[in-house]
Amino acid sequence: PRDVSGELTSEDLDQDRTLRPRTLDEYIGQERVRENLRVLIQAARDRGEALDHVIFSGPPGLGKTTLAGIVANEMGAKMHTTSGPAIERAGDLAAILTNLEEGDVLFVDEIHRLNHQIEEILYPAMEDFFLDIVIGKGPAARSIRIDVPHFTLVGATTRTGLLTGPLRDRFGISYRLDYYTPAELAVIVTRSARILGADIDEQGAAEIASRSRGTPRLANRLLKRVRDYAQVKREGSITWEVAAEALEFFEIDAMGLDTMDVRILTALCETFRGRPVGLTTIASAVSEDPSTLEDVYEPYLLQCGLIVRTPQGRQATLAAFDHLGMEPPAR
Ligand code: ADP
Repeated sequence: PRDVSGELTSEDLDQDRTLRPRTLDEYIGQERVRENLRVLIQAARDRGEALDHVIFSGPPGLGKTTLAGIVANEMGAKMHTTSGPAIERAGDLAAILTNLEEGDVLFVDEIHRLNHQIEEILYPAMEDFFLDIVIGKGPAARSIRIDVPHFTLVGATTRTGLLTGPLRDRFGISYRLDYYTPAELAVIVTRSARILGADIDEQGAAEIASRSRGTPRLANRLLKRVRDYAQVKREGSITWEVAAEALEFFEIDAMGLDTMDVRILTALCETFRGRPVGLTTIASAVSEDPSTLEDVYEPYLLQCGLIVRTPQGRQATLAAFDHLGMEPPAR
């Protein structure tokens, strides 16, 4: 398997522009979030107010940025985009906030990576719409207060537990996005194929969906690979047969697992022989950050029943051995 991780590539950025749903009606899946937002947006619009601050959490590629754009669009507001690590100094944040207009949406991706000093400045801006900025140094230093327009902060993070308590508390609305079902992903694939002008049948879409790791970004990426294959090696139409052949050709894992997923399973099955292992031990075995392991990789492996969490640690299941084509150790 290669190139199937949930992380962004430059091709994704191009793809995102065209394939991203713009309205709640176009957005597929996450029913509860959608219906909830519909009510809250309508209520805010009717009152002529900005929507309360919103935080979306969940693994990469599930639609957090897309939802932020939809919130802005449905509110009839302008969206400004930045990210936690991009805001380095108080002045950066002040510049962004004072540039906003009444009702605008400020989308902050990876908001858990904001530094603490910036967070402190953000609190009054979120709550009472003013900034307290210290200018100058030493005895000449003084604090000035700047009003900012009523804006909506939309934050995205892999897990709300990564946010500090005070920041988390300042979001009135909080949603966790779940992995999509194969049926939902098949609808997404069919919609994207229509936008890209690719001919695909129901079984072709279902095959791509089943190998997309529950993630729309991957579904769109695999669709593009399969379309390339269909165009060069076949007549162009994406049937089940063509999709299966193409995914085989590109060495896409049958369950849609990416390289890191497979490394984790291999470590658990081979290196640790199916015994329970602590998170940090696995992390060092696969050279990945423990929190990334926990937030990005583990949820899908748990959902697929390939690993379980026991009081002693994470453990590979028989399904994991089976998926890797390995004999489980005799007990
Ligand atoms: P995140 O911000 O959570 O990493 P994005 O919002 O960037 O994810 O979504 C990744 C890609 O998946 C985008 O190209 C978007 O068009 C597509 N996508 C995400 N959610 C949906 C959805 N519910 N319906 C259709 N396409 C979606």
